[in-house]
Amino acid sequence: MATTTRQTLEHVLRLVRENHPGLARGWFSDLDDGNLVGGTISIQARNLFQLDYLQRNCRRAFSEAAQTVTGRLVSVRFWAEEPQEDNHAEPAFAFEELPLNPDYSFENFIVGPGNRLAHAAATAVSEQPGRSYNPLFVHGSAGLGKTHLLQAICHRISKDQHPLKLAYLSCEAFINHFIEAVEVGALHHFRHRFRHVDALVIDDIQFLGTRERSQEEFFHTFNTLHQTQRQIILSADCPPSEIPSLEERLVSRFNSGLVALIDRPCLETRLAILRRKSKLRCVPVPDEVLEYIALRFENNIRELEGALLRLDALSQLDGGKVTIELARSALGPEPMMIVQTQRIMEVVARRFKLKVSALQGKNRAKSVTLPRHLCMYLARQFTHDSLEQIGGYFGGRDHTTVLHATRQMGRRLAEDVDLARLVRELGEEIRRGGN
Ligand code: ADP
Ligand code: MG
Repeated sequence: MATTTRQTLEHVLRLVRENHPGLARGWFSDLDDGNLVGGTISIQARNLFQLDYLQRNCRRAFSEAAQTVTGRLVSVRFWAEEPQEDNHAEPAFAFEELPLNPDYSFENFIVGPGNRLAHAAATAVSEQPGRSYNPLFVHGSAGLGKTHLLQAICHRISKDQHPLKLAYLSCEAFINHFIEAVEVGALHHFRHRFRHVDALVIDDIQFLGTRERSQEEFFHTFNTLHQTQRQIILSADCPPSEIPSLEERLVSRFNSGLVALIDRPCLETRLAILRRKSKLRCVPVPDEVLEYIALRFENNIRELEGALLRLDALSQLDGGKVTIELARSALGPEPMMIVQTQRIMEVVARRFKLKVSALQGKNRAKSVTLPRHLCMYLARQFTHDSLEQIGGYFGGRDHTTVLHATRQMGRRLAEDVDLARLVRELGEEIRRGGN
């Protein structure tokens, strides 16, 4: 090789970024070059999370790039230094089915009005596990950052509080481990594993709902940990009381600590997230394009991020620049007009032959609650108003009422085709903006 290894690594990184923009991460520039020995280049990661990411996702991309750069049939190996550990101690970190994503740190988590409480609770819990909010229950719709926040807690705990034992897993994995333990008669082992941790972090706990025996087991796991002041952190797509078929005693335990909602991000937060993601993924995008994307995707940050990556991939085919023209043609027409909740109420009231004031009043007859809930649902779809603001339009109802109504409406719409048609029609009328 004519060049030094550092230069080789830099070439390799450049190629990986060009050829696999979805894989590349900002922290790649922290990777350390190693020697080329026996046809293998060793690349050093900063920590075990980076290592895990590289080993799972990047072996082929790096090897191909290394072969192009060196012109030889080399392969790439990743490694990282093991943290110093007391030989007698059990491993501090129990990797379960879900490996930690190195991107999901507090540093990469943008705080805004929709997630401020959840974020504050998450940092408090990771600084003093078991001593602030226990359990911490984070809920919100898909793609709003629950998994990111849970993993950020795990990163922080495993970094700052090394001797602590942490188990992080999905609810499905918990259920599967339990079933397996019952089948092979290893319940004792299962219990030891989950009742002797300092922090138990379970993602998507709503799946516990319909599983009776797993609920029973989890109830005892929960009690054991809680009584000994071990930290429990849970996430779900709805608050405890709305998890279908969850036993009352679990609902009340989940409610006994802090229940924090992650709400949809406002425009400013979405923009900040896009900026951070474009930096993290090494995708330079002009501000006007970021704004364009942020206006188009309001309800799901995963989709927001997906749009950014799609534009980046398209731009590679098209000269390498992400422009506003490219964004327009790839992501569709101009951002949806911003609709006022007031207008939604007028359209719905007219359709149901009601007065707007009836929607705002206290009448609980079905003929009024259905249109009222429809309005709340549509306001979530079409406006930038927060749950509190929407509640304000309906005689000062509180945000949990609005959340409950919109969730219930979402579920009904999935089953009731006539209602879904009505919502579509109302949506079109609202968008038309006329009278
Ligand atoms: P959920 O578990 O709620 O479905 P995720 O945690 O998987 O959502 O988040 C989806 C994507 O959005 C992830 O890539 C995550 O990094 C990103 N994301 C969500 N919230 C934020 C935030 N506040 N700051 C930065 N990125 C975020
Ligand atoms: Mg998730």
